Amino acid sequence: MIEDKNQSRTQLEALGEFGLIDHLTQAFKITQESTIKGIGDDAAVLDFADKQLVVTTDLLVEGVHFDLSYMPLKHLGYKAIMVNLSDVFAMNAKASQVTVSIAVSNRFPLEALEALYAGIKTATDLYNVDLIGGDTTSSTSGLLISVTAIGQVSKQDVVYRNGAKPNDLLVVTGDLGGAYMGLQVLEREKAVFKVNPNNQPDLEPYTYIVERQLKPEARKDIPVLLKELGVKPTAMIDISDGLSSEILHICKESGVGCDLYENKIPLDPQVITTCEEFQLDSTTVALNGGEDYELLFTISQEDFPKIKGNPNFTVIGYITEASAGAHLVTRADTKIALKAQGWKSFEK
Ligand SMILES: [Mg+2]
Repeated sequence: MIEDKNQSRTQLEALGEFGLIDHLTQAFKITQESTIKGIGDDAAVLDFADKQLVVTTDLLVEGVHFDLSYMPLKHLGYKAIMVNLSDVFAMNAKASQVTVSIAVSNRFPLEALEALYAGIKTATDLYNVDLIGGDTTSSTSGLLISVTAIGQVSKQDVVYRNGAKPNDLLVVTGDLGGAYMGLQVLEREKAVFKVNPNNQPDLEPYTYIVERQLKPEARKDIPVLLKELGVKPTAMIDISDGLSSEILHICKESGVGCDLYENKIPLDPQVITTCEEFQLDSTTVALNGGEDYELLFTISQEDFPKIKGNPNFTVIGYITEASAGAHLVTRADTKIALKAQGWKSFEK
């Protein structure tokens, strides 16, 4: 899980900046109708006809957002695209283009950037988005990746954070807490490796949660599925910082309160067993862990029959008047005020 010192190293200077961009982007093909011009001119040209444009950007910094001692560069490239596409899907939009900019120190050879771009290419191929531009520059220390994602949505389909109404149901996709517990396992293995480099980590019991951390999937399928079911959420957000923080964003923007039921929060069995092993409370992990990239949304009660029984969705609570506040209703049936701790609260 540590950088392989024996692999071949081509210095970046050998290619020059433009040669490097050409080299890294030559395998990318344009597939979107809305991309009129991609890489190769002063700017990209896009045409969305009558659709509204959704634009979102994220900056990932080595040592702050990722640790290359257990995050393979290919996975990092993939994840950098996912975290941005997730924000597009949270607007109930379809993602269509990305730009990728990197700043890189001379510690990284060409082969490292090839691995990063292999992950980016896997993501853009699988999610059917065009790479239409970006920039590369040098950094004095470490690696920075900035991705901008562009999507499209018709005016009547766009979903904001601010439309939740009292009595609406609070719904989440997938399950929560996996990415955070995967990180705990990887951090532990890193600590073990530092003490004994010959110790091979056994990640077999943790495959699901480690994958949730290293290779998250943005929920491209959900806007499509909701449309098929004839459900337009009243509010929606993606889960990047933790369920608690995202619920509070919806409550604040919509001017409402909510009751979230602890016993309804969807958890994978591997999250539960790993929480027991690490002596962490699984509810706290789901509330504050983050990086699950699932979608959280609210729907009108009359839409409930349309999602009922669908394995993609779990109703976890309902919206109340703002004056009631935002609460977790525990298994013991007591109410605790929700706090926006986010993943930062777990930093040592
Ligand atoms: Mg978001």
